[in-house]
Amino acid sequence: MSSAYTNKLLMIDLSRESFETLPVSNDLKKDFIGGKGFGAKLLYDMVLPETDPLGKDNVLMFMTGPLTGTMAPAMRGCVVTKSPLTGIFLDSYFGGSFAPEIKYAGYDGLIIKGQAKKPVYIWINDDTVEIRDAWHLWGTDTLKANEQIKTELNDDTIKIASIGQAGENQVLFALVCCEYNRQAGRGGAGAVMGSKNLKAIAIKGSKLVSIHDPKRFTKACATAFKELEASPDVEAFRVAGTAASVDFANETGLLPHKNYQNGTFSKASKLADKGQARHLWLGSAACMGCPIRCSKIGAIRSGKYKGTITDIIEYESAALMGSNLDISDIRAVAHLTKLCDLYGMDSMSCGNLIGFAMEACEKGVIPSPQGISLCFGNIDAAEYLVHAIANRTGELGMLLSKGVKQASEEIGITAIDLAVHAKGLESPAWGPRGVSGMGLAYMTTDRGGCHQRGFTVTYELSGEWKGAPLDPLSPKGKARMVIALQNYSAGRDTLVNCDFGSYGISDDTYAELLSAATGQKTDPATLVETGERIWNLVRCFNLAQGLDPKKDTLAPRFVNEPLPDGPSKGHRISAEDMDYMRQEYYQLRGWDKKGIPLDKRLNQLRIAYAGHHK
Ligand code: SF4
Repeated sequence: MSSAYTNKLLMIDLSRESFETLPVSNDLKKDFIGGKGFGAKLLYDMVLPETDPLGKDNVLMFMTGPLTGTMAPAMRGCVVTKSPLTGIFLDSYFGGSFAPEIKYAGYDGLIIKGQAKKPVYIWINDDTVEIRDAWHLWGTDTLKANEQIKTELNDDTIKIASIGQAGENQVLFALVCCEYNRQAGRGGAGAVMGSKNLKAIAIKGSKLVSIHDPKRFTKACATAFKELEASPDVEAFRVAGTAASVDFANETGLLPHKNYQNGTFSKASKLADKGQARHLWLGSAACMGCPIRCSKIGAIRSGKYKGTITDIIEYESAALMGSNLDISDIRAVAHLTKLCDLYGMDSMSCGNLIGFAMEACEKGVIPSPQGISLCFGNIDAAEYLVHAIANRTGELGMLLSKGVKQASEEIGITAIDLAVHAKGLESPAWGPRGVSGMGLAYMTTDRGGCHQRGFTVTYELSGEWKGAPLDPLSPKGKARMVIALQNYSAGRDTLVNCDFGSYGISDDTYAELLSAATGQKTDPATLVETGERIWNLVRCFNLAQGLDPKKDTLAPRFVNEPLPDGPSKGHRISAEDMDYMRQEYYQLRGWDKKGIPLDKRLNQLRIAYAGHHK
């Protein structure tokens, strides 16, 4: 039966310098669909408790979804591994054209294990796999490595995933750059790649993706394109990407300012879409086959950084490298973000860490590095730290390269109160004190502080969830909403669809695309149930890896310090509020009071691993 699955995974062992293909079982497809689901199941099976994330026994996977590389709009890929930053599950998503090329080479995913003895890159040309020397690439940035490999292989249509110096140096929040400006950004997958001495993966494929029922699939694609065109939200992404969120977050008091001390910034609009259009943007850009085109190409057109090629500064980077550091010059923010991209380092975590260091220095918790005035608003100090962290130079650079949790713990108790993260992943740019459901989402997210799997903000501020009233400041009614959103997003992440596509394409259309492409009958409820299965399996994985459920908590700042400004001024998420939401969440999930999944729910979800983690 023809299907959009290739039914093969390519496994490469860098220690043995060997490779093999593994079959994709029908059970894996039925219960986990693809993308995050495949990654979660394989990680659970392959990575034993106590595995060192930066050791040879960790695996690094590049997974596609069944619709990746087809005509279905806005599909992407994901990296799955055990995170060196958090010590738990990590899935990190990337757009561009690298993931479709995996399909065209004939694979549903790549699994890299072992450790090369010296720097290498992998060259996959359909069925031919070579492990090549990369000494001459070591020390290059992400884009230079990309360019040099294309020159070396004499083919600029090859697709490349690479790391920069941050990945080589095993900065714990190093990223994987997948072609230009498309990164698997969060959680340190680039450090895992660096620990394997793997500079890059180059791939080229010549195979077509089969479709089970082409006529039905073409019709479903036409529906999806029409739904995207009809959506005002999608149109807003096309015009301004996520940059317009800066003004929205500022007006609602959710924007991080000065290491999340405040929720508003008087100069926020300079960082938003209009400021970016004036100083940076030249035209629109898109991931392969995406009609939304949320991205931009541009260049800094004036001032100190004039001439730097840049693209849209996404909301998260604009906020964490901008308002969070009290910097309002979007050209400086673009410069700092570009440095992070070239070094191959997550600009969200980096902005969070620099904010932490600036506050710690201003409060006398740490000294300023010699010759540097480490204070909010100082662009040169921020740039100094970007270089120091990526290269792991100087005492402070070394310390901050370990992430905000570890850095604060090494400094001591006064620093721990300033560190803003959940389970070790630096928090995103949505302060939760005015939207307690977002707080619960951070507390319970499977990879640590993340806004993309349970984004409650719009529901909470509209005061309604599924027709029932919702008070954004109250802990009540939040668990049900967060669970529903988490299951939904985990289900969608099996397709590896772009989140922005969901603003237009209906649930029925996604299910129809999947059914027509694979021949596997699906409906929206099955996708959500699959999401719940994955969420529980990942919880089991995290517990097996040593996660203490007491870490289902928020940063001290959000619990102890009332918000000083904005519409929710005076509010915080108290320990009692957290406890209320946590217990309701555990109960509705079918977990015990300590946050351990109960056998009954695991059995209902056909997770045959009950007891594995105990
Ligand atoms: S909406 Fe933007 S990020 Fe998403 S697939 Fe399209 S171009 Fe890529």
